[in-house]
Amino acid sequence: MGFFGLLALLVSKTALASVAPPSRMETLRLGIRYVVYLPTREPLPSSETSNAKLQELFKGINAIWSSCGIAFEPQLVVAEADRSPRQNRAPAALDELFKIRHELKQDGSMLIAVTQPWNRADSLGKTGANAWTAMPGTEDHGIIVEWPERWNSNLLAHELGHYLGLDHREKRSELMAPVIYRDSTGLSLEECTAARHTASAYWKKMIRNSTQIAG
Ligand SMILES: [Zn+2]
Repeated sequence: MGFFGLLALLVSKTALASVAPPSRMETLRLGIRYVVYLPTREPLPSSETSNAKLQELFKGINAIWSSCGIAFEPQLVVAEADRSPRQNRAPAALDELFKIRHELKQDGSMLIAVTQPWNRADSLGKTGANAWTAMPGTEDHGIIVEWPERWNSNLLAHELGHYLGLDHREKRSELMAPVIYRDSTGLSLEECTAARHTASAYWKKMIRNSTQIAG
């Protein structure tokens, strides 16, 4: 799910002139902080917060985005729950997700923040969505995903599409389908062009040098 679909369409329409097709361009690498707030104060198995697991997740995400010449480079941040009561609480309303973005955002990296499973009693419960992303142009940027879906590469690749200004598409086979299945991975050339343009227009500080190895 994403906010401000109309804005996303405007971004797409203005993007087409200035960007060459991905095949002729160097891979665009974007840095991401993946912030995990442990769901309890009990220690988790190290496999649950391991860098290897994160690299595996982004291997899946980058396999989808490679068709656009885009790669994401994650950095794992594991935070102790009792140091940040807000993130440790299960969010119930969309408004709380903006507060989390506001606390965690940094100019130099995109943000994925993993929270506790959501409390479905308030506005987050009405949609059935497991992740929300603020669209470009919103003051606070970032993807918030609830704990059970934190390793869902298709879902997070979809949310990164919103992060890069893409709106929903109709077909199930498309990455930006409103509901994501295993085979929802397609990206059109038009979407690739728009996504690369959005990265340059909104997230320039998150673009990394291309000397690092892709995950
Ligand atoms: Zn969506």
